[in-house]
Amino acid sequence: MPGLSMPLTSYIQDAELLPLAEKLQRGERLSFEDGMLLYRSPDLTGIAAMAHSVRLARHGRKAYFVTSRRLSYTNVCYTHCQFCAFQAHQEDPKAYVLSVEDIVRELENPENLGVRELHMTAGHHPKLKIDYFESLFRTIKTHFPDIHLKVFTMVEIDFYARNSGISVEEFLDRCIAAGLESCPGGGAEIFDSEIRKQICVGKKDADTWLKVAELCHQKGLPTNCTMLYGHIEEPHHRVDHLLRLRDLQDRTHGFLAYIPLAYQNEDNELSRTHHILPATGTQDLREIAVARLLLDNIDHIKAYWVMITPGLAQIGLSYGADDLDGTIVSEEIAHQAGAKTPPGLSRQEITRLILDAGFEPVERDNLYNTYPVEP
Ligand code: SF4
Repeated sequence: MPGLSMPLTSYIQDAELLPLAEKLQRGERLSFEDGMLLYRSPDLTGIAAMAHSVRLARHGRKAYFVTSRRLSYTNVCYTHCQFCAFQAHQEDPKAYVLSVEDIVRELENPENLGVRELHMTAGHHPKLKIDYFESLFRTIKTHFPDIHLKVFTMVEIDFYARNSGISVEEFLDRCIAAGLESCPGGGAEIFDSEIRKQICVGKKDADTWLKVAELCHQKGLPTNCTMLYGHIEEPHHRVDHLLRLRDLQDRTHGFLAYIPLAYQNEDNELSRTHHILPATGTQDLREIAVARLLLDNIDHIKAYWVMITPGLAQIGLSYGADDLDGTIVSEEIAHQAGAKTPPGLSRQEITRLILDAGFEPVERDNLYNTYPVEP
């Protein structure tokens, strides 16, 4: 549905949704109860039409992507997230820590030519401190000045500041001075404290995540934001999570994009202790649409193909998403938890996905500066 040729209300079959469409047309903000209705209504087509109309008003038919590289500098972690299949303890044969030289060597690999964004998130290694990150960022920016450094979940920042014996403020100041330019949005999971206790024992709470994000924004460091869905949470937990992100964005305007992350149910403790079926396609699409409708102050909504498949992400462009994330080469964390998608896509593959869905591919960097799409 690249364009809407009829009045918005003519796409809506569930009469309960009509007041929401009218609110949107008046430019009014949707409420918590509206969010609950968006999760309850069987009329996904009507919800998609509303989300798509918001998306078209903001971005027209543009669909963004970035040429990006993923690296996790260590998988060593002693936090206990029951959904994680990536972490290792130091004595584990699969444990690793990348040195600064390892990372530079990896980036010199010809497959990384043209990379605009280096996205790094990793475990909470008890031996890594601020000096490792300062040296890493300075070295990368010296060798690859054009690569944008997007590093750390909010909980990594909190952990490595404490591990270094310094405040979060000082940790951020020193990392920014060394070359840190933005942060991914991970580690948010679900903000509700009861659910959080069951899926990520020992991980810092919602207030910490939000406080660190606020500090980043105050220091001019933009971040993304996320939510992990499709495990043991209920719709009211999701609405609460999204509205807490919206509240923070009202104060700081520091979130660049929101990414709904589908829980992957393989090889992790949560999948062994709970019978959790994978999210269905309509659930994935609804998450994108609800986010577009509730997060009226966050510019970009991503359809993250790594977790929902490239084909469904392509459809997500008609459910409110305006961004397919990036080429990514090569993702580890979701794949170790069971993601069946390829470890990366070429620029040509992403461009084709966008064109075939009826949208206009736009290559961007992490700050949404745009570049002509190379054939
Ligand atoms: S999700 Fe991150 S913080 Fe949690 S156990 Fe895995 S690596 Fe550690």
